[in-house]
Amino acid sequence: MSATWSRDDALVGGHWIRPGAVLEVEDPATGAIVGSGARCGAAEVELAVAAARAAHGDWSALAPTARADHLDALVAELRARRDELVAMTVAEVGAPITVAATWHVDVSLDILASAARHARTHPFVQEHGKLVLHRRSAGVAALITPWNYPLYQLAAKAGSALAAGCTLVHKPSELTPLSAYAFAEAAVRAGLPAGVVNLVPGTGAEVGAPLVAHEQVDVVSFTGSTAVGRQVAASAVDHLARVTLELGGKSASIVCDDADLDGAVRWSVDACMLNSGQTCSAWTRLLVPADRLDEAVAIAAARADEMVVGDPTDPATELGPLISADQHARVAAVVAGAVARGARVATRVTDVPSGGHYLRPVVLGDLPVDDPASQREIFGPVLVVHPYVDDEDALRIANGTAYGLSGAVWSADRDRARRLAARFDAGQVFVNDADYDVEAPFGGWKHSGSGREFGVEGLLEFTELTVVHL
Ligand code: NAD
Repeated sequence: MSATWSRDDALVGGHWIRPGAVLEVEDPATGAIVGSGARCGAAEVELAVAAARAAHGDWSALAPTARADHLDALVAELRARRDELVAMTVAEVGAPITVAATWHVDVSLDILASAARHARTHPFVQEHGKLVLHRRSAGVAALITPWNYPLYQLAAKAGSALAAGCTLVHKPSELTPLSAYAFAEAAVRAGLPAGVVNLVPGTGAEVGAPLVAHEQVDVVSFTGSTAVGRQVAASAVDHLARVTLELGGKSASIVCDDADLDGAVRWSVDACMLNSGQTCSAWTRLLVPADRLDEAVAIAAARADEMVVGDPTDPATELGPLISADQHARVAAVVAGAVARGARVATRVTDVPSGGHYLRPVVLGDLPVDDPASQREIFGPVLVVHPYVDDEDALRIANGTAYGLSGAVWSADRDRARRLAARFDAGQVFVNDADYDVEAPFGGWKHSGSGREFGVEGLLEFTELTVVHL
């Protein structure tokens, strides 16, 4: 297949400039090159930050409702390319087309529309007696995004940043720059002023590190691994930039003894395997009553074995490939290590389509809760099942990792589930089949990060407070 979305440029101050080098984009399902992005460096970072700084005064001085109008125009431009965005996401991430449409593209448009609503309705100036609180734009924002949900992660950051009056410099993952180009093109076509949105594709070392370290960057919003997040935080703190970190997870789904076991386990397996298990908030640990362990493992394995793994362009496909050969090797090595330490592989189906980085979903049992496969993020389609004795034991296991991103509780007694959910040391916990909500603040405890995205809390991450005393 010939390259479909080939770019070699960066958007800086409203102009497309060429750094002279490119990084190719591989389709994880076929290995074919489906596009390219510019390989920028410190020189382009310098220009982009200067452009964002120059644009900041006028953009932050606009009425928030005017920024909301710009965001709406941006959404309209992206919506006009919706089907192409879905195809791009399938090509660069390997996400199945149904997942790409729902969880990558449509939700991203909802997130941006929500940010526009907040720009319109948020009380940026509040009076409390003799105090006037002014919520003001925090300045130039560096947005660094991963490859697993490229458009979604960008929408989460850019929507709030733009609504708050920040100008931005975006560095997408080097593996998935295509949708970032579509976003930048939409910003230009929507008429956002030059320099408000800047795009500098490239690697973490060559673009991410100098961007985070730049003295003129006021806010760093990073989504990625905990290891890189630590470096980013240290570098940003060095020049006292505000930092939001959305990092890894090892989230637990607790199935209570009164829950519908079949429904809860099947739903939990689906949530774990979404996007080939490459979802930060995936419930990768399933906690079940000890006396129903064998039954639960059998249900989980049966659901995993029936999943359709294959061509992500086929609407019947449930799981596409992993993002890269490296990621495939990493995940396979974790499973092999767990098996060497005594894990039981409950899933039976192992054959995968040829040509891509495919891995069948795996359900593991018989592992102690402190096994590395139960403690560390795997970021692939691997579910670990653990038995627990009672609710307190389940909660202890759920909270017993370095992470704290997400979770779930399943019970026929909603009050019991609510009480347990509120005791997770995690940013968000779902009771039974509760809906995802773009208004819900999202973020993590402990090694899953700091700060929040979405909703009012997401908006406030990009603001500073000036209190006027009367
Ligand atoms: P990663 O940490 O390798 O890379 C993330 C981004 O950081 C990429 O754009 C990368 O180029 C850049 N980067 C790398 N080194 C850098 C440096 N020194 N300075 C600045 N930027 C640098 O993560 P990934 O492999 O792209 O994504 C997978 C990880 O992201 C997983 O751990 C997953 O849990 C996490 N994630 C978290 C959330 C969340 O909201 N909590 C969401 C999605 C993904």
